[in-house]
Order: sequence, then structure tokens, then C-alpha cells
Amino acid sequence: MDIDQVKSQFPIFRQKTPTGKDLIYLDNAATSQKPQSVIDAITNYYSKEYSTVGRGAYWPANVNTVKINQVRSKVKNFLNAQSEKEIVFTAGATDGINKIARSFLAPKLKSGDVIMISQVEHHANLIPWQELCKAYGTELLVIPVLESGHLDYEWIKQNLSERVKLLALSACSNVLGIKNDIKRITTMAEVTQTPVLVDAAQVLSHNRVDVQEWNCDFLVFSAHKMFGPTGVGVVYGKQSLFNEMKPFNYGGGIVKEVTFEASNYQDIPHKHEAGTPNIAGVLGLGAAIEFIKQLSQNETDTHLEELTNYALSSLKAINGLKIMGGEQDKAPVISFTIDGIHPHDISTFLNEEGICVRAGHHCAQPLLQRFEVPASVRVSFAIYNTKSDIDKLVMALLKTQAFFS
Ligand code: PMP
Repeated sequence: MDIDQVKSQFPIFRQKTPTGKDLIYLDNAATSQKPQSVIDAITNYYSKEYSTVGRGAYWPANVNTVKINQVRSKVKNFLNAQSEKEIVFTAGATDGINKIARSFLAPKLKSGDVIMISQVEHHANLIPWQELCKAYGTELLVIPVLESGHLDYEWIKQNLSERVKLLALSACSNVLGIKNDIKRITTMAEVTQTPVLVDAAQVLSHNRVDVQEWNCDFLVFSAHKMFGPTGVGVVYGKQSLFNEMKPFNYGGGIVKEVTFEASNYQDIPHKHEAGTPNIAGVLGLGAAIEFIKQLSQNETDTHLEELTNYALSSLKAINGLKIMGGEQDKAPVISFTIDGIHPHDISTFLNEEGICVRAGHHCAQPLLQRFEVPASVRVSFAIYNTKSDIDKLVMALLKTQAFFS
């Protein structure tokens, strides 16, 4: 793959940082940069075809209604869902998880029920469940994570029971970068008929997902982590579940008929999309999917695997640097600490060199507590990163270390 050509599609890399350096962007697990095609889809909408959707019989409204439906089909194909009815647009992964918590799970819960999550979850896939537990007297069971960063699958098998009303798990940890075996988990959950929600926020920029193969009941993601805009995402849900659930929100756009006495709702997916959608966001998501589709999956895999392995071996050569978790089933996400230097100091120093990394608890405080580190530095790669970025990272880390020694 011609990485220079791919990178040239991202206008942000054409400028220097405020410290006069080339931008080395290594915070892709937080959010990825945007190719020109995504930016164009959004500006074209606002500058040339602006309107709402679904209501007007005039031209931009018609154009945008058609385009939104096309994006729904693109998402359906991207996830290999069975039908467009299984695709609901949201504001992002967090919004999607909260909606499932409120509309799917809350009405079913009673005291003594169990919600199962894992120790690697992002706060977005923890706090909504914690709140339900508080409100309904439900128990939160947490799957332990091993030192390698893998879930304890034996523990899951032993603790799954009919009492578990939902198993909510990320497909990949945003801190350790270890991918979870979702198929193995849904196979176990089938035995107890426990629905499985997959938080796919960390996988879609570099992994193809097949919801039918995974056989998950729900899946959520955010567009901004896969080259699309912020403020838009998707909940995939099996048709039978989307049908039986209460609408995610109430308001315009979801109804067939309304009187002061009662309202009846449209069919899925519209039943779950009250209000004017984030039209620019959805169009940007469509362009992001097109961008990903034009990259060869094999070449993307090879490039990111090579970068990750190169980074792991280069980082391990630094004295006092400790990587969290193992190297098996590794996504392009690496968290580490360096003896004697606070992660925030490291990220501040790297910023001077034009290198963007994340430092802190990465919205996964219980996981950091499990690994007994208060904070870590995280580097995460996307298709536009190169080995030269990693060489510059290592040089800058050595410089930081020299300053602090
Ligand atoms: N889950 C995981 C694993 C994440 O990494 C993130 C974003 N850091 C989220 C959920 C939440 O995504 P968003 O903030 O886009 O809703």
C-alpha cells in the first residue's frame, strides 16, 4: 500500500504544528483524522444541498433523504447486518449504550438480575450499567482480565447463568489493545440465552466486523474513530429486539398517528430515531465507510501489524519502559509507563516535538487500578502512520528520559 498516497488524503498533515514540527498523530484510539472525502461530504451538504430530511417534497430534502438511506445501506453492508432495519443512527457509542440501557434493559430488570461486563471496559460501557444496578437492585458482575490483557473465558463460562440479563463487552480494549473473542462469548451466552452487546468503538477503523458471524444482539460504534465526523454513530440491533423495545427517544419523526390520547410508532429503524438527525454527520459517516472500503483489508492489516510489532520492539528497548498487557491478539494500541516520569510529563514533552499521544486513565479507571498504575501513556496507530513516526516517538521518549534523569 502506498501510505504516502493515503496520508496525502488527510489535509491536516500538510501543516506544521505550533512548535514548527511535522504532525505525528498517535492518538487514533481517541479519534482519527479525517480524509478530504469526509470533509467534502460535510461541506457539500452545508454549502450546496442544505435541508432537513424526510419531510419536504423539494429537491435538497429529497436528495438528502435518499443519501441518508444510502448511508444506512452502506452501514448495513459494512457490518454485514441482515437488513437496514437493524441500523439506527445515534450520537455515538456512548449514546448507543445509554439508549440500549434505557429502552431495552431497564424495562426488563428486577432485583436479583445480573448485568455482566468486563474489567477492560471504557467508562461508557460501565457507568450506564452501574446506574441501572443502583436503580433496579441489579448486580454488576465483572469478568476478570488476565495479566496478558485477555479476558478470563473460563470465568465467563462458570458465571454465566439465566440471571444474567445482558453481557456488555468491548471488542477491543482502548487501553491494552487486546481484542476479545466475541464469537466465543456469544456462543457461551447462547446457552443461557443472554443477549450480548458489543462495544465496537475500537475496532472499525482497522477491522471488518460481521455481526452475523459474531451473532451479537447489539453493537455500537462512533464514526469519529473510523475517519468520520464526531457526534454520530450507530446502534446495530437484531430486528426482533429493536421491534420489541420502547423507542429510544420520543418526539417527531417516529410516529404514524398522534392524538392527545395516544401515539403509535413507525416501524424500525425509524421508531428509534426521534428528532432531526445529524444529517451532516451521517453523510460524513457514509464517506468514511467509502474511504475504508477503498483500502485493501489485507494491506491495512499488514501495515498496522508491522507498525505495532515495530513499535513494541522499539519501545521495549527503552530502559524502564513497561508495556501493559501482552502481545497476542493485539490491535494497534499500546499503553506503557516509564519509571520515574509521569505520563502527563511525557505527553507534554512529546507535544513539543509535534507528537500527539494520550496520557491518563483513558476513561478506564478500574482497568488501570487492576494493573496498579495510576496513569499510562497510550500510542495508537492508523493507516497514515509510518515507521518513521515510531522512530521519532522513540527519539523523543529518550530525550524526555534524558531530561528527567
Ligand atoms: N468504548 C470504547 C472502547 C472507547 O474507546 C470509546 C471512546 N474512547 C467509547 C466507548 C466511547 O465513544 P464515544 O466517546 O465516541 O461515545
